Amino acid sequence: MNREAIQFAKILKKSGHSLTDPRKRLFKLLGSGKAMSVNEIVSALPYDRSTIYRTLELFQKLGIVVEVHLGWKHKFELSDMFQHHHHHLTCINCGKVLPLKEDKELENSIAHLSSRSSFKPVDHQLEIRGFCMNCQNKY
Ligand SMILES: [Zn+2]
Ligand SMILES: [Zn+2]
Repeated sequence: MNREAIQFAKILKKSGHSLTDPRKRLFKLLGSGKAMSVNEIVSALPYDRSTIYRTLELFQKLGIVVEVHLGWKHKFELSDMFQHHHHHLTCINCGKVLPLKEDKELENSIAHLSSRSSFKPVDHQLEIRGFCMNCQNKY
């Protein structure tokens, strides 16, 4: 098991949950780093929709997974606990989602602007909408 998988097993154990197959496989699937919709997850795993929903709900509660709003879709991805903090570039034509690598200056600005409003940020999401390289020429 890699570091992430060990941490994942620990979180489940600490909260009194066992490492079932659906939990293991969903974690592994999202471990690819791609944000996925419920439909994409349902078609990638051999479990019914209610099992997937229940597992996602548990993962969200435990902070393993976060829900991200990309375009008009809700997608799920592993939290910053398991992957580098990043933002999303969403193509409004084909729906492709690309990660925008973490940038210190941007992160510092967000922290700075929040504190100027006497706000203590816990986390944030940022989505930039536009056209991917393939779609740019079509419009
Ligand atoms: Zn595109
Ligand atoms: Zn950020």
